[in-house]
Amino acid sequence: MALLTKAPRGTADVLPDESYKLRYLEQRLMNSARLFGFREIRTPVFEHTELFLRGVGETTDVVQKEMYTFEDNGKRSVTLRPEGTAGCVRAFLEHGLYNEALPQKYCYLTSCYRYEKPQAGRLREFHQFGVEALGSDAPAEDAEIIALAHHIFDLFGLDNIRLEINSIGCPACRKNFQAALRSYFESHLGDLCETCRDRLARNPMRILDCKSPVCSAIAKDAPKVLDYLCEECQTHFGEVQKYLKAMHIPFTVNPTIVRGLDYYTKTVFEFVSDAIGAQGTVCGGGRYDGLVEELGGQPLPACGFGMGIERLRLLLGAGGIEFPPDDRPALYIAPASREFSFEAMRLTDRLRGEGFEVLTDVSGRSVKAQMKFADKKRAQFTTVLGDAEVASHTAKFKNMDNGEVTELDLDRLNEEFSGLWSNAVFGGFPDKPNLTLLNGGK
Ligand code: ATP
Ligand code: MG
Repeated sequence: MALLTKAPRGTADVLPDESYKLRYLEQRLMNSARLFGFREIRTPVFEHTELFLRGVGETTDVVQKEMYTFEDNGKRSVTLRPEGTAGCVRAFLEHGLYNEALPQKYCYLTSCYRYEKPQAGRLREFHQFGVEALGSDAPAEDAEIIALAHHIFDLFGLDNIRLEINSIGCPACRKNFQAALRSYFESHLGDLCETCRDRLARNPMRILDCKSPVCSAIAKDAPKVLDYLCEECQTHFGEVQKYLKAMHIPFTVNPTIVRGLDYYTKTVFEFVSDAIGAQGTVCGGGRYDGLVEELGGQPLPACGFGMGIERLRLLLGAGGIEFPPDDRPALYIAPASREFSFEAMRLTDRLRGEGFEVLTDVSGRSVKAQMKFADKKRAQFTTVLGDAEVASHTAKFKNMDNGEVTELDLDRLNEEFSGLWSNAVFGGFPDKPNLTLLNGGK
């Protein structure tokens, strides 16, 4: 029975008290992306498994341990997306979007699936806001993407977060770095964890990402990738920093960031906070110049980031950021008895058509019980429909905030209620936008 009443481990229900906050947050994320020229893309929740083997990389933790992979009834291996980039690039190639004006810039809000050990800020089904810019190799693009993430944290008035950047070079300089890493870690072979011993042969950079205390202690003194950058990569990294400075975006260079996915080249970055526990990386991204070709396209530079919605939400909570209250019902129409419920439903339906959230009785309750219910739902106005109202085609509308009562003509209810409502909510200025901004909102 427990299986019927308990969601799978690592998943979370979002109930109405929370969902309106997430909707608000997500709207602001997508609006911000739009300011930077990104447009929404939607891709399927599952893809051919090969896409992620190639696109995320066979030596990554994601592919080796975390994917939800299964065979469908047609005996094809499919995988629930563990991240958003691979699907986005696949769609870009499939629809020939490289023929459009470049760079093509996409944003998305998606669920992602990773079989991980659930804890605060780490779920098996989580959500990402992501952006991808395909077709520019210029440092200005890296900087623009970072600026978007910065803009978002700024928008919410968050200052408990810092930006760390690094460059992990191109395949040419990476080769020398990998060789240096290999010989360094070989000299500590006995102390490395079993997984890292395996990583040593396949992809020694992954050891830098290992969370085991022994391996991360060893990794501290490992060769630094910045010492191995070729001239082009050095210049690129320098320019990215120049753009960030030009936009007054504070950052530190952290030479230990390598990111968990295989496809990154040159710039990598993370926005990290100490305020939300061990899983402090709220946003991670960088340049992935090799991915489009890896997935079968012509070589095409690209960069992007993924921001964890659940971690962003934790961060907002930790920062004491308040959300504007959820919208409340404009009106509750209470039939005095069952015979008036048809007229109540008719008026309710008409006002809904006008764009008002209106509630009426669907449970056959007494007027007293209905008023209690309307109060719980925080209805702005209430009215009761009975013999007198139906006979006179008028009814009294009570403003629940101040007790004021206004009589309206039921034959002209749409117009008259619109006036009454906007007067109450906007003080007679119906054009005033219904916007309550978050703390520090701009
Ligand atoms: P981490 O180091 O936390 O495992 P990662 O390197 O695996 O992160 P990415 O693949 O870069 O993360 O994903 C981008 C963002 O998505 C992360 O910065 C984080 O905010 C979020 N994220 C990743 N995995 C999870 C998860 N299991 N649960 C919740 N959010 C996650
Ligand atoms: Mg991870």
